[in-house]
Amino acid sequence: MNIRRLLLLAALAALVLTYFGLDLGRFLSLDYFKSQQAAIEAWRAAQPLKAALAFFVAYVAVTGLSLPGAAVMTLVGGAVFGLFWGLLLVSFASSLGATLAFLVSRFLLRDWVQKRFGDRLRAINAGVEKEGGFYLFTLRLVPVFPFFVINLLMGLTPIRTWTFYWVSQIGMLAGTLVYVNAGTQLAKIDSPAGILSPALLGSFVLLGLFPLIAKKIVGTLAARKVYAGWQRPARFDRNLIVIGAGSAGLVTAYIAAAVKAKVTLIEKHRLGGDCLNTGCVPSKALIRSAKLLSHMRRAQEFGIRSARAEFDFADVMERVQRVIRTVEPHDSAERYSGLGVEVIEGTATIVSPWEVDIVRNSGESERLSARSIVIATGARPFIPPIPGIEAVGYFTSDTVWELRELPRRLLVLGGGPIGCELTQAFARCGASVTQVQHGPRIMVREDPEVSELVMQRFRAEGIAVLVNHEARKFVIEDGEKILVAEHQGQEVRIPFDALLVAVGRVANIAGYGLEELGIATGRTIETNDFLQTKYPNIYAAGDVAGPFQFTHTAAHQAWYAAVNSLFDPFRKFRADYSVIPWATFVEPEVARVGINESEARERNIAHEVTVYGIDDLDRAIADGEAHGFIKVLTVPGKDRILGVTIVGEHAGDLIAEYVLAMRQGIGLNRILGTIHIYPTLAEANKYVAGNWKKAHAPQKLLAWVARFHAWRLGQA
Ligand SMILES: Cc1cc2nc3c(=O)[nH]c(=O)nc-3n(C[C@H](O)[C@H](O)[C@H](O)COP(=O)(O)OP(=O)(O)OC[C@H]3O[C@@H](n4cnc5c(N)ncnc54)[C@H](O)[C@@H]3O)c2cc1C
Repeated sequence: MNIRRLLLLAALAALVLTYFGLDLGRFLSLDYFKSQQAAIEAWRAAQPLKAALAFFVAYVAVTGLSLPGAAVMTLVGGAVFGLFWGLLLVSFASSLGATLAFLVSRFLLRDWVQKRFGDRLRAINAGVEKEGGFYLFTLRLVPVFPFFVINLLMGLTPIRTWTFYWVSQIGMLAGTLVYVNAGTQLAKIDSPAGILSPALLGSFVLLGLFPLIAKKIVGTLAARKVYAGWQRPARFDRNLIVIGAGSAGLVTAYIAAAVKAKVTLIEKHRLGGDCLNTGCVPSKALIRSAKLLSHMRRAQEFGIRSARAEFDFADVMERVQRVIRTVEPHDSAERYSGLGVEVIEGTATIVSPWEVDIVRNSGESERLSARSIVIATGARPFIPPIPGIEAVGYFTSDTVWELRELPRRLLVLGGGPIGCELTQAFARCGASVTQVQHGPRIMVREDPEVSELVMQRFRAEGIAVLVNHEARKFVIEDGEKILVAEHQGQEVRIPFDALLVAVGRVANIAGYGLEELGIATGRTIETNDFLQTKYPNIYAAGDVAGPFQFTHTAAHQAWYAAVNSLFDPFRKFRADYSVIPWATFVEPEVARVGINESEARERNIAHEVTVYGIDDLDRAIADGEAHGFIKVLTVPGKDRILGVTIVGEHAGDLIAEYVLAMRQGIGLNRILGTIHIYPTLAEANKYVAGNWKKAHAPQKLLAWVARFHAWRLGQA
């Protein structure tokens, strides 16, 4: 705490101590006022200006110091100055005093509170920044919330001082009026509780409800404006139409059918979407074959003198397709029809906020109306506009699964999760792979040492990882394809046979009606916290809505989209992104939940770091996989988990314990107190908790315990 803050704190403490030490509160009681009422009124009659000024200053001091007595002073204001002058004086004095208290709390505490609890306060801060005035107005109107608490708490939020002042002034006016008016009748009131009659309380409740009702009316008017010009059908064909049958669309339709809604799911290409057909499933199937090959190369490490893999890449890719076919029934039209979903294979176009035109793959077309629509059209690979890229030709995660011949030299553009997974898988299958990344490291979302470990492993496996390389153009020279890149101002030429572009994915937002309806889009469809678009009955979920691009987040959002679209306005839920895990399935596998160290530093979140090296773990040693680490970020001095990064074998499975812990508010102490089977990789979770515990051992207490033991030995 700096010197200015300390001085202010000392001055305030002195004033408050004086108030309580000299028992000044006795002057702020109704009894005292009543006993002195005649004298005070006489003084006010003789010196009205002085009396008003003294009252004003005293009121500002009491409220500015958050001392008890404001309610009594308000009553006294009415009794001494009458309704008009009393109201005027109290209204300004209370707003000024409240603003002083607000500023004191802001000056002394806000930085500390935001630093310590910034992460947890993010939603509140965002809410206050957006609608702080409205919240404050509601709080001011409802006198069940203590006046001084509101002042102090609001000081900790980002609300502007001026907004705080004028909203307080207006918001408190009605309550002040009631109290000052009651004060004019003071002779008949024996205690402040006396004015809280059921009728008066009822009017306060009504005053409190007023802004909520006003907000509802404003919301309804805004919605009306959005729909102006559109003809709402008198009846609907369906409760819900879902466009796109990937992870988000399938789960949305599933939930809708489960709650007995009439739902139609439209898919233009293949049910299961990206994850089943070109994403998670094929990539993990290929990674499995590639891992087997890598183990065979490491045979001697496991005491096997020689192991030779004879294989045809085409067979590996056929297995990938077999895996897709095996999983396919989970996402099939038959299964979903059986669950009560109407599945239409065709292309959907939204033509009004309630209507969708469908051109079936068989050629017929129809128009269906629905009360709500969920857009779940996913994303597709982004192709950077690098000169010459079309001429050399390229694969993406959409098309690479068609390959049956292993490219001799594969160039992978991109160092994100998809680029990394495919780089290692193809290299392990025998391709000579060069991975080009324009930034200084691959897997940039993770901490630098994570990228470093993965990069080291890639290089050890013979992959050329070229970081800080900017792709400038593609050329074909003497029939050979070449990437011309720039590295530290120098031109680098990288010849290759096949190019795989994996530089990110863009949401599918064009060509099916969003433009015509004026639905706002940026990189993704813009939605509010409830996943509603500009039209409250049109929702978006999955990759097309962002901000994450995972199957499990698509499914998570789908629940909100389904429930909100079917039950709004009776009930709706804000999508909760507080605990989102993910994994990148390279070797060593990388998994994360919550924040990592880089983010904690960037966002100025106070944290402690505890690390456990998996190289020390019995099971990892026995498995020949003694590498990687678990890094846990906790609140300083507490075992509350802020985030976990795991690098190592089965990291994606191991992280589940932390996902549960974070979601359910379980700390490291309780993980440490949980039995983990020996010998498993999961024991690493317990050991990192043990490391945290050791670092927080109560040293002083232990010194006493040592003395206790020595005494028991008869040595002390
Ligand atoms: C190589 C790769 C590996 C991945 N690995 C993982 C992983 O391991 N774990 C993970 O969680 N995520 C992974 N992902 C990401 C995951 O696949 C996506 O996040 C997920 O599939 C998104 O689901 P979605 O429903 O939003 O979109 P999609 O699955 O893309 O589904 C959208 C569907 O909408 C259809 N559609 C679009 N427009 C229309 C229209 N007008 N009418 C009718 N239908 C339409 C499309 O045909 C498509 O089937 C991976 C992705 C890739 C590319």
